[in-house]
Amino acid sequence: CQAERFILEALSHARAQTAAHPLFTALNNLGAALIGKFFLLRDTLPVDEAREPLRTAQPYVEESVQMARAMGDVFPQVFCLGNLGEILVHLGDTAAAEPLLAEALGLAQPHGFEAQVWRLHCTQGELLLSRGQAQEALDQLAAVLSASSRSDQPITRMRLHHASWRAAAALGQDSLALRHLQHYLQLERQRSVRQLRAQSDLFVTRMEAEQARLEAQRQHARARALEADMRRDQLTGLGNRREAEARWPELLDAARSTQAPLSVAMLDLDHFKLVNDHHGHAVGDQVLVALATLLRAHTRATDLAARLGGEEFLLVLRDTDVRAAAEVCERLRSCVQGHDWASVAPGLAVTVSIGLTSAPPYEAQTLSLRADAALYRAKAAGRNCLVQS
Ligand code: GH3
Ligand code: MG
Ligand code: MG
Repeated sequence: CQAERFILEALSHARAQTAAHPLFTALNNLGAALIGKFFLLRDTLPVDEAREPLRTAQPYVEESVQMARAMGDVFPQVFCLGNLGEILVHLGDTAAAEPLLAEALGLAQPHGFEAQVWRLHCTQGELLLSRGQAQEALDQLAAVLSASSRSDQPITRMRLHHASWRAAAALGQDSLALRHLQHYLQLERQRSVRQLRAQSDLFVTRMEAEQARLEAQRQHARARALEADMRRDQLTGLGNRREAEARWPELLDAARSTQAPLSVAMLDLDHFKLVNDHHGHAVGDQVLVALATLLRAHTRATDLAARLGGEEFLLVLRDTDVRAAAEVCERLRSCVQGHDWASVAPGLAVTVSIGLTSAPPYEAQTLSLRADAALYRAKAAGRNCLVQS
């Protein structure tokens, strides 16, 4: 049933594309799947119900016969004619089936399509049986069974034993009928096992594919987390130099394309070495963390605030001209100076020097050199101040 659904879907795609080859393949596969369905159903359902798939298949297979004839290739014609003959025999229309089977045999025999010849002969045997010619059927089937005895054609051999069983039973040859039935059931069991094995292989493959997909997802998430980690400063949680180098170009490109204002500030804590010396490294660390918090508070999420290393920080302010940036930086400087540092360590006082510059040019190196030079001048001017360049 699943195969039927998938092939019907394929068929409608093939029709939409009006491509001959996929259409022919879909028609043939649908015919074969429906015939297979009939063989599965015929011993379990009343005849008329079991024949339903054949009635469904008939128009598709007729269409494939027409296409095969138009193409002119021998094998497709043999195959489709065989399918149609088989459908008609099992629907009880032996008169219509007979010439089709003969035509198919006439094509298959000279080309040496052995497996098709066996299959067609088998259908002819079934035809004789359904006409009530049980002895002729049995003879015909026995000939094919012997010809195909060394072949690997389980479906045809199943059909041969099935038809032989019924023919022998019709003739009252019970032990022969039983032998064929046993052969048939053995092949049927082997077929079931093959099918179950294929299904479980498919299930395992699907599970493995799903596991591989989940593992890839996990690795991807780990890689992303690692990448994010590598761009973050562990102490303050701000972006680090890597993050700054990665985001600088984006911010500059965006600003350049609209000629939007953009300002860059370089900050450095004053006499930070003395903070460490007088209050200890741990207090120094707390100062860095507190400064990061102040930087976040004075910038927007879309700005860039990064710790470049040591006690040196970078700010890139979007859509901010030099005047507005100077206000932000001056407020920041004043906040650092006015912060309650004594609550971190008694007697602690912290200030920051800031060098500020603005685009144009929209060029990272020029802007950072200019901000650095301004910072150097702020230090030289006595620290705890803002210098623009
Ligand atoms: P200036 O005003 O000229 O900038 O003087 P400064 O002392 O701040 O500058 P200097 O470059 O001489 O010293 C920087 C100090 O920052 C030295 C280093 O131990 C300290 N430092 C760098 N990274 C860290 C850190 O992660 N934690 C702490 N506690 N100190 C750090
Ligand atoms: Mg310093
Ligand atoms: Mg420094």
